[in-house]
Amino acid sequence: MELAVEGIHTYYGLSHVLHGVDLRVRPGELVGLLGRNGAGKTTTLRSIMGLTPPARGTISYNGEVISGKKPYQIARKGIAYVPEVRDVFSNLTVEENLTLAHDPRSPWTMPRILEWFSPLRDLMDRKGSNLSGGQQQMLVIARALMTGPQLLVLDEPSQGLAPLIVNAVLDILRELRKENLSVLLVEQSIRMAMELADRIYILSDGKIVHESPPEVLAGDPSIFERHIGIAV
Ligand code: ATP
Repeated sequence: MELAVEGIHTYYGLSHVLHGVDLRVRPGELVGLLGRNGAGKTTTLRSIMGLTPPARGTISYNGEVISGKKPYQIARKGIAYVPEVRDVFSNLTVEENLTLAHDPRSPWTMPRILEWFSPLRDLMDRKGSNLSGGQQQMLVIARALMTGPQLLVLDEPSQGLAPLIVNAVLDILRELRKENLSVLLVEQSIRMAMELADRIYILSDGKIVHESPPEVLAGDPSIFERHIGIAV
């Protein structure tokens, strides 16, 4: 598995949002993408998934160009996307949400999923609409795994969750790293990204302005101040 984003420019109508973004996710890597609100993080993920295709530049996956393909074709290559808005099927039960997504080739069977996401075990008959934010977040990540991805693309999984739930999600993501799964993670929680990521990119005004392992950032907090506008 290797994702390579090279020099992409993405627009919403006339609004030029990404100005030549380059990034890579290598096999088994967890890559964090940070940046202030409006920097273009979600747009980068939407470009990768073919939802807002780049006007210029190339995105390739395992050496094959995927920019220009339809979102469902990109998903079928083995890339699962968990958007910021938790898109659970609200009128379906937890079990139905999971079963619908299951690909028979996926190593993630229902028993295995319930072992990993144990809070979902007692909620199998509960409708999606009757779940808490944290339960919904677990469900959408579990559902993404049911499709058997090689690359998981997550947009702000910690958003709006209580610290205890964030820690539970963090534990799962940490464990997932051992499962030969690559992850591209957009996060507002710098703590979460710093704890999990092998490498971090910072996006500012639609450009990558920094790339390093988290240790380098931890040793020089002024980088955050400069590019994200906060002291850590
Ligand atoms: P956030 O943390 O707020 O989600 P982000 O880094 O993910 O920020 P994006 O959502 O990618 O940022 O937005 C980048 C820029 O594109 C912003 O200026 C935003 O206003 C603009 N934008 C986002 N979605 C649209 C859209 N559908 N139409 C027009 N402009 C948009």
